Order: sequence, then structure tokens, then C-alpha cells
Amino acid sequence: MRIRHLPETLINRIAAGEVIERPAAVIKELVENSIDAGARRIEVEISDGGRSFMSVTDDGHGMGREDLEAALDRHATSKLPDEDLLNITHLGFRGEALPSIASVSRMRIASHLTGATEAWEISCEGGKKSQVKPSSQAEGTRIEVRDLFYATPARLKFLKTERSEAQAVRDIVQRLAMAAPEVAFRLTINDKAVLTLAPASRAERLAALMGREFGANAMEILAERESIQISGLAGLPTLHKGNGLSQYLFVNGRSVRDRLLLGAIKGAYGDTMARDRYPMATLFITLPAEEVDVNVHPAKAEVRFRDSAHVRGLMVSALRQAIYAQAHQASNSVSYQALSKMAETPPMPSYSPSSLPLSRGARPAVPSSYSYRPAAGLAERSVHVYAPQFDVAPSARHEPVREEVARGEAEYPLGAARAQIHENYIIAQSARGMVIIDQHAAHERLVYEKLKLQQNDRAVLKQGLLTPEIVELGDAAAQNLLAEAACLAAAGLEIEAFGAGAIAVQSIPAVLGDKANIVQLMNDLSDELEEHGTVEGLQDRILAVLSRAACHGSVRSGRRMSAEEMNHLLRQMEATPLSGQCNHGRPTYIELGLEEIEKLFRRR
Ligand code: ADP
Ligand code: MG
Repeated sequence: MRIRHLPETLINRIAAGEVIERPAAVIKELVENSIDAGARRIEVEISDGGRSFMSVTDDGHGMGREDLEAALDRHATSKLPDEDLLNITHLGFRGEALPSIASVSRMRIASHLTGATEAWEISCEGGKKSQVKPSSQAEGTRIEVRDLFYATPARLKFLKTERSEAQAVRDIVQRLAMAAPEVAFRLTINDKAVLTLAPASRAERLAALMGREFGANAMEILAERESIQISGLAGLPTLHKGNGLSQYLFVNGRSVRDRLLLGAIKGAYGDTMARDRYPMATLFITLPAEEVDVNVHPAKAEVRFRDSAHVRGLMVSALRQAIYAQAHQASNSVSYQALSKMAETPPMPSYSPSSLPLSRGARPAVPSSYSYRPAAGLAERSVHVYAPQFDVAPSARHEPVREEVARGEAEYPLGAARAQIHENYIIAQSARGMVIIDQHAAHERLVYEKLKLQQNDRAVLKQGLLTPEIVELGDAAAQNLLAEAACLAAAGLEIEAFGAGAIAVQSIPAVLGDKANIVQLMNDLSDELEEHGTVEGLQDRILAVLSRAACHGSVRSGRRMSAEEMNHLLRQMEATPLSGQCNHGRPTYIELGLEEIEKLFRRR
């Protein structure tokens, strides 16, 4: 046995394994290089999800003949001014990207060094460099990458569908564009321009990328403490999504997905948002380079802060301040200072879940009024008053339970409804003890089972819309939904393409009723697709989203029910399979036996 040095091409391939896991990673590296080269205009093109062809063209400072040769060598970089790995001011710094990509593809680089009379190009196939030859490149640099992973079929197998790879490329281009608003971008997928961005201010760029709704419903965030600055836009608590994909974080201009920071966002919104909803936010953290290590992750998606508690703390307080200032502004009646003196920690009115008639997935309204009185007695200690504006039908007004009905129904497993509390929980008396029913969760389950039954019988009751509802979603979301049109139709939801980025909804499942919020529904469905892609279980998830939507239109939490309505719900639950759990596996009711109750009171 003899110890030998690995050949350079193999080393590069190993490095590629770490950094270049999919086409989007290639695009990220190439676009970052363009930004580092001072480009004002960057064009990205891909075909076939990036698998067969990708190119990035910029108008940056370009490379000369010798640079071109060196650029493909490992650890060759022009970006380490002070030989200090801690002080990284460019996006690139490892000198690894080009050789890594070149080792797993067929690459061509053409470049025109600013001020030079000639342009040059070089090709590289599976890591083998060609001679440098003259090129007609007019300015800047154009890098083409063909047949990614052609020599490593094992890696090819890990690529997802063309659509999800293209989606990932789009996502990365958007992230890069958010951090570089002064640069014009164009993304072309299969010869179709899907994203065209003119140079803009940061706010304009964010509105262009996050959607008009975000632009109109976002709060400006700006906070500074010692050497750390956090700025950007964060959505109002009333604006939320079904997944966390609309949260963009940047540390010193780099897009990161850092669990600590994402957790901080969640923490800041806390109870102002239902547990399974996610705020939208684009936040930029700037701090001295030596305060953060971007070297942790080869693809640089994770960072390590020297003082992470400090960063997290600043982020939470910046967001909280904006959220509560906003709520305060909306109500126009609270003395903010008085409030913060009165409440303990956190120094803001704290929403406890039980005081908010929020349902999962429902749009939590911004509290429509606050009231504050100096602490005088217990009754007046309530810091904030929530005034829900749910329409309560006259028939739904609370009525005393009629004894004779109650007695008969006590024989049913879920018993007879005795009362409704906090406008969401039904208390029933059963033969064995008492039952507490979460009316919202229960209803959601009932609708889900009903839809599922109808679907199995291929008889989903749908309701045609007189005039189709046009929903603007943006290109990517619209295409995702249209790709699953058949699946959606089977659930009673018929959609058609309607121009760029919009769809026309032709029919909805009948269970949704007349008041369905179709825009919200389509957004939720697109979130669901975006998050999970096309995999098994899609039908069920569509049904889950639909049943959630159905509940917001009918027995959502926060609605008073009459005794008849409550008992009707209980009887339906008894007749429905799996009604003990809502669609997310949480219980729809709990039962306390008389014996347990007695134990609680030490009577046993
Ligand atoms: P790094 O970005 O870490 O330096 P890369 O392998 O990505 O390493 O690139 C190697 C070098 O090639 C860079 O340091 C830069 O000098 C040069 N380079 C790459 N892309 C471009 C570009 N689009 N314009 C000008 N120079 C570039
Ligand atoms: Mg680079």
C-alpha cells in the first residue's frame, strides 16, 4: 500500500458534492460571482430545470486571459485582500465554486476584461481545461454550464422534477435580487422570461418580489444596537402564509436560512398569529464581519454569530415593537407607555391563546380595540379587550339547554351539550362524566370526512361560480396550482389559466358555501403545494386545506351556537369515523370521567 495524493479533478468533485447539490446551487455561485464583479445587469437562463443548460451573463469587470486560466483552479480567488478568513466582504471567498462546477459539467467561460482590447474564452469538460482562445464576448462575463452531473449518474438521481428544480432556481435568483436591488435581473426559463427586475430601491424590489399584498401590508423594521443593525420589511400579523417560505433572511447581504433567526421571527409574532401560520418577512442583518462566521456551511446557508443571543434579542424586540406599535396605531386609544408600565414581561399586552378567538389557519384580526384602565381592582386588570366582529346569526344566540333533550342525549357517547364557553368549547354531560369539545377542530374533521367520502364515490358536490373568480397569485404559484388542476378538480375545485400569474376559479366544493374566501383558499393551496411539491398524499392535503377553509365559513371558533346546533354537532361526530382527531392529529374532544373529576377535587 502506498499513500498517494488525490488527483485534482477528484478533489474538485468531492468539493462539488458539498456545494453543488442541484442546479440552483450552481446559479447561486455564478450570480454571486457576477455581483462580486460589480455587475449592474445579470441575466440567468436555464433549460430543463437547469439539468441540460444554464447560463449567467453579466456586465461586470470581467476577467483577462490569465484570470481565465486561474479561475478554474482550486482555491484560486481574487477576493482575499487581507488574507483573513474572518474578514470576508465579498460573497465568494473559497475559490471553490468554478472548479467544483466545472468538475461535474461541461463549462464554458467567455469574458471581456474592462478596458482590454480582446476577449477570451475557456472550456472545461469534467474538470479538463481547454486552451484559452479569443472570444467575441462584448463585455462582462458569460458562463455556460451544460449537462450538469453527466459523469456522476448517482447525483443525477437526486435531482427532483424539472419543475421543482426550476422553482429552486427561481427562489435563489429572487433571494439574490432582494439583497442586490441596484442590480437589474432577468431570469429566463425554457426561453420564457419569468422574472424581469429593473434597478430599484430596496423597498420597491421587495414589493416587486414579495407581491403587492405584502407591499401594502408590511411594517418597516429598523433597529440598531451597538454594532448590529436590522432592517427590512415584515408583514402585519394579519398577513400570513401556510408555510415559512416567505421569510427571507440576509446576514451581511447573504441569504441565510438560519434556524435561530427563523425561530426569533416566530417568537416575535407569538400569539398574534395562529400556531400553524407563518408571517412574511424580509430582514437584513448587518454586523461587523468579525462578529459572524459565514464559513460554517459550504453552501453558506448557515451562519454562526459570536453573540447569537444578542442578535436574536434585537430581532425579537425590533419585530415586537413594530407589531405592537401597529396594533396601537390601529386602535388609536391605548397609551403605550401606560401599557408597558402596567404589564409584566413582555412589556406589551400579551395575548394568551385562550383570550383570542383564533382558529388555526384563520386570519387573526388585528385587535380592533384596546382598552386600558389603571389597575384598580381585579375586574379592571384586563389589559386588553378583544372585540371580535363575527356575525352571529340570530338563531345562533345562546339558549338554555332544555332539560328533556339533555336527559335523552346524555345516553350518547358524547353526551348532551350543556354550555359553550369562550365561544369555541362545548361542554357536554355524558353518562360517564363530562366532555369538552373543540367545536372548530370537530367541524373541520367532519367536513374533511364528508369530502373524502364524496371523493371516494367520485361525487364531490361542487358549486359552479356564476362568474369565475380571478385570483392573482404570481407566475410560480399559478403554475404550481395549474399543474395539479386534475387533482383539484377531483376535490370539486376547477381552475383554469387566466393570463400571466393568474387563475380563474370556475367551481368550488359545495361544502365551502357562499362566503368562501377564494383568494385566501388559493393562496393556502399554493403554499401547500410549494412546501410539499407533488408527492403522494396530495389529495388528502388538498382536502385538509379545503375543510379548513370550509370551517372558517361556518362553525369557526368564535361563533356562538344554540343548544340544538351543539347537539347536532355532537351527533354528527359520533357518526363520523376518526372524529376524535382533527386533520392535524390534535384531539377534537377530551373526556373527563366523573371519577377523574372527583379525584381532582380530592373527593376520592
Ligand atoms: P470565489 O468566488 O470564491 O473567489 P470562484 O471559484 O467562484 O471563487 O471564482 C474564482 C474567481 O474567478 C473569482 O475570485 C473571480 O476572480 C473570478 N470570477 C468568477 N466569476 C466571475 C465573473 N462573473 N466576473 C469576473 N470575475 C469572475
Ligand atoms: Mg464565487
